[in-house]
Amino acid sequence: MRKIGVLTSGGDSPGMNAAVMSVARSAALYGIPLIGIKRGYNGLLRKRENIKDDLQELNLETVLDIADTPGTYLRTARCDEFREEKYRAIAVNTLKEMEIDGLVVIGGDGSFNGARCLCEMGIPCVGIPGTIDNDLGYTEMTLGYDTAVNVCVNAVRAIRATSRSHDRPHIVEVMGRHCGDIALTTAVSTGSEIVIAPEVPWKVEDIAVKLNRQLDKDNPRATIIIAEGAYEKMAPFDLYGFLTANGKMCYEGEPMSANRLASVLKRMCGGAEVRSTVIGYTQRGAEPTARDSAFAFEAGNLAVRLLRDGISNQVIGMQMGRVMYMPIMEALQYRNIFNRTLYDLVNSL
Ligand code: ADP
Repeated sequence: MRKIGVLTSGGDSPGMNAAVMSVARSAALYGIPLIGIKRGYNGLLRKRENIKDDLQELNLETVLDIADTPGTYLRTARCDEFREEKYRAIAVNTLKEMEIDGLVVIGGDGSFNGARCLCEMGIPCVGIPGTIDNDLGYTEMTLGYDTAVNVCVNAVRAIRATSRSHDRPHIVEVMGRHCGDIALTTAVSTGSEIVIAPEVPWKVEDIAVKLNRQLDKDNPRATIIIAEGAYEKMAPFDLYGFLTANGKMCYEGEPMSANRLASVLKRMCGGAEVRSTVIGYTQRGAEPTARDSAFAFEAGNLAVRLLRDGISNQVIGMQMGRVMYMPIMEALQYRNIFNRTLYDLVNSL
């Protein structure tokens, strides 16, 4: 390897900087110069006049300060052009010109698909799973998931304290467009009474029944955790018709949201003062937990070792609590298995 490159791609996740720091330390140890590529695959497409805006040599001095910081120093972005081969050819040329013989890609399954394409075009790549969603079936954890869950748990604990003070139910929306793992783990870790995830179709009326059951059990401070993507799995519900018929302002065609669900449940549950909070981007921009940082440390080192030893087209993950790697193609075939048993347990207790 004359040089290796590292980039972060897709949505940012806590621990990306820690992984870059580990890649940099390992590359330095093995005597391989490291180039940081800015804004995901965009940094390889010659979009900027000055190549130094896209590619930056990363030395220990540059990266030692970033390991604990949230966000990604290299910046990240989506890059739709990269799905087209003619743009990937530009990327390959850039890498060849810069004498970059291998690439560490930190991102989710989309970014891994990009890496797979580059491998097919002769550029050795290794992927590190950087996404808060935990939606990659081949690995027990993804970088940032543990941090995101801890942000949610801290927020829900605070919310449950005020819910208790006022005897009020609360809906908390967490991230997860297609994967309910953050919602489920948050619910389990906080003793929340109801969880709604994108993996399981649901009805507003059923949630009202469950909340009413909690109210009947003399629990007026139940917490409902909902994943952001779960609204798409909601059975059709006439939000506009229901709210306007019950004296609440609503625009026609307005989508369901945590706020609107609170209004609906209030009217279905005897006027209970249901409140809502969307935790939002604090989940992505938090300082990485020890677990995420430790995974980043091991994964970064393994990625560089694999490239150094000529083992490419791999992604790194965690199985049985140990850091491991497997071919990208194989990894992408694993479907994430949602823990339905645990989901049913939360909703039935
Ligand atoms: P994530 O990596 O978090 O899943 P995206 O799905 O947005 O995020 O993918 C990140 C980037 O990976 C895309 O913007 C694109 O540059 C690249 N990518 C995604 N899918 C493909 C694909 N099928 N082929 C080539 N590149 C892809």
